[in-house]
Amino acid sequence: MSGWVVVAGLGPGRDSLVVPEVAEVLAEATDVVGYIPYVRRVAPRPGLTLHESDNRVELERATHALEMAAEGKRVVVVSSGDPGVFAMASAVFEALEAGPKEWFTLDIRVLPGITAMLAAAARIGAPLGHDFAAINLSNNLKPWELIEKRLRAAGEAGFAMAFYNPRSKSRPHQFARALEILREACGEETLISFARAVSTPEEAINTVTLAEATPEMADMRTMVIVGNRDTRRVGPYVYTPRSAL
Ligand code: SAH
Repeated sequence: MSGWVVVAGLGPGRDSLVVPEVAEVLAEATDVVGYIPYVRRVAPRPGLTLHESDNRVELERATHALEMAAEGKRVVVVSSGDPGVFAMASAVFEALEAGPKEWFTLDIRVLPGITAMLAAAARIGAPLGHDFAAINLSNNLKPWELIEKRLRAAGEAGFAMAFYNPRSKSRPHQFARALEILREACGEETLISFARAVSTPEEAINTVTLAEATPEMADMRTMVIVGNRDTRRVGPYVYTPRSAL
């Protein structure tokens, strides 16, 4: 039996949002590797070993997955949402690049999943119906100055924006600074939506203007979506028109 690595996304939370292909590979796997809360979403069964690891050890986890595949195991590396969006797919390729050349012959596949941005946008209405930028607000893997520069550039260019990892306990002031930049670059009346724990029982959706937005409206389980200058409300929904001048 020859081994493989599949990097798979588990979607935003609800089981029905796991794509069928991902459910199929999980049924064939001998090993599942990932961050603790994601691995816990995989049902245990005989013949399946679950390897839970901490959030900060992405490269070690990816290397471990490739080593196990080289030994003949069938390994699924799990992320939430889509594995290519601020998640494990890039980490697996980084580990491949740093590893022995023999690993280039391994069977490695990436299976797409429903990313939090799209699940959140669908609950809000259609805020990403025109051009948009997706930005990770965490400065764990990049300098904060670069984040500020990208926020300003995207706002001034008229992009709607979707923010992952908007706010955490370890960096409480940065999201307040992000809101300041957005008010300057996009205008105070631009709509901003906070979509928390989408597709789970704790789901909460809230839309305000940038003038009304406060940092406490976001946490690490929140997707933040800022519209462009044409983004507007229609009844209980928020949408961005298909056209722009
Ligand atoms: N690969 C994941 C993103 C990982 S970054 C994906 O494609 O969705 C983690 C961030 O995603 C969180 O801080 C939060 O901003 C967002 N997120 C993940 N699941 C979410 C959910 N169910 N509802 C709202 N935001 C979510």
